[in-house]
Amino acid sequence: MTKRVAIFTLGCKTNQYESEAMAGLFRREGYKQVTFDEKADVYIINTCTVTHLGDRKSRQMIRRAVKKNPGAIVAVTGCYAQTSPGEVLEIPGVDLVIGTRDRDRIVELVEEAEKSPVPVNAVRDIMSQRLFEDMSILDYENRTRAFVKIQEGCSNFCTYCIIPYARGPLRSRSPDKVLDEVKRLVEEGFKEIVLTGIHIGAYGAGLEEKTDLADLVVRISLTPGVKRLRLGSVEPLDITPRLIEAVAGIRTVCRHLHIPLQSGDDYILNRMNRHYNTFEFSRLVGAIRSQVPDIAITTDIIVGFPGETAERFENTYEFVKETAFSKTHVFKYSPRKGTPAAGYPEQVPAEDKDARCKRLIALDRENQKNFARQFLGRSMEVLFEQPAGEEEELWEGLTDNYIRVLVKSSEDLKGQFADVRIVKLKGTNLLGKMKI
Ligand code: SF4
Repeated sequence: MTKRVAIFTLGCKTNQYESEAMAGLFRREGYKQVTFDEKADVYIINTCTVTHLGDRKSRQMIRRAVKKNPGAIVAVTGCYAQTSPGEVLEIPGVDLVIGTRDRDRIVELVEEAEKSPVPVNAVRDIMSQRLFEDMSILDYENRTRAFVKIQEGCSNFCTYCIIPYARGPLRSRSPDKVLDEVKRLVEEGFKEIVLTGIHIGAYGAGLEEKTDLADLVVRISLTPGVKRLRLGSVEPLDITPRLIEAVAGIRTVCRHLHIPLQSGDDYILNRMNRHYNTFEFSRLVGAIRSQVPDIAITTDIIVGFPGETAERFENTYEFVKETAFSKTHVFKYSPRKGTPAAGYPEQVPAEDKDARCKRLIALDRENQKNFARQFLGRSMEVLFEQPAGEEEELWEGLTDNYIRVLVKSSEDLKGQFADVRIVKLKGTNLLGKMKI
């Protein structure tokens, strides 16, 4: 009887990449992958712990799996499992806890747990891990954009962040392995490659050969058939002049940099252990914009970090306004057990966090519109992904500088590049016309 496996993923692109890779390993062993709503023989919950909501949602999905089929093997992987294996094992019905190591052995570990009379805690120490766990995605659902994991771990220890304790120290995938996966994806018809990891700006750390992200970007862009290369989040201090040159000079590299700022107040940046101040950050943004016209600079902001007074929040608000990011992801500070900031005095009341979050999200919408408005009347190359859903024959896609564009067409545009003349702003998106 063919065994069925269902995987539920929480959290970031890297977690999604690892879930896809694990799914491929099960399929290769003859398992049939089913959706998480269906009955399965094995349930994998790939967890997240970046906020307390991640923990709570992870527990909810674990309980849902147990309820769906009490006879199934329930295995829990990912960051919450790595940092809190005891809490996970306390949930009735959990058979196996793995964490953020050994996912490449998931099938074997699940089959061992099947034979075990008691739940198996296979979580191993992550802080001593020095090797990059090489897992690649064996086959894909869509054929437009593919994520490629190039790096693992982080050693920055920002005071609010649990990730270094969940993912361990910096490790990098060998450039040859990355290039092999890119070549395979290009052969399979993928149009856009997105480099992902936990701290990709530190790419090269842990490898014998001396290399870095800029090197890798150049080598990938020289791979025949690569149409578009997009970078995941890059920390401010990791953006080198050579990386800016690569974004400026190589047509296939998307004019889009996601650079987490986290706060626009220098006192708070210092308390976060971020190692730069707002002057240095704006100077970096200025240098990038002067070399790469029309580039999208997107960012992350945490509101309500301990010690963030109303005045300090105003500094952040004004900085985001002045810098005019093309997109700002806003997060409310969430104390993480085991991180220094969780024990800091001057924790900010929830209602203040809510109010600040609302204000920044409203500002972000204006910034997004202002950025998109610059392209009215211009021609943009768009990579179409899927029907937009709102109307018949309306398709949506992304420009290289990360603007969502909608176009009417009776053709199947899925996975197609097309030149589009921009005619109108539609919310924070653009409406265009296909160029004949
Ligand atoms: S750079 Fe800071 S915020 Fe990002 S993963 Fe590392 S510790 Fe966390």
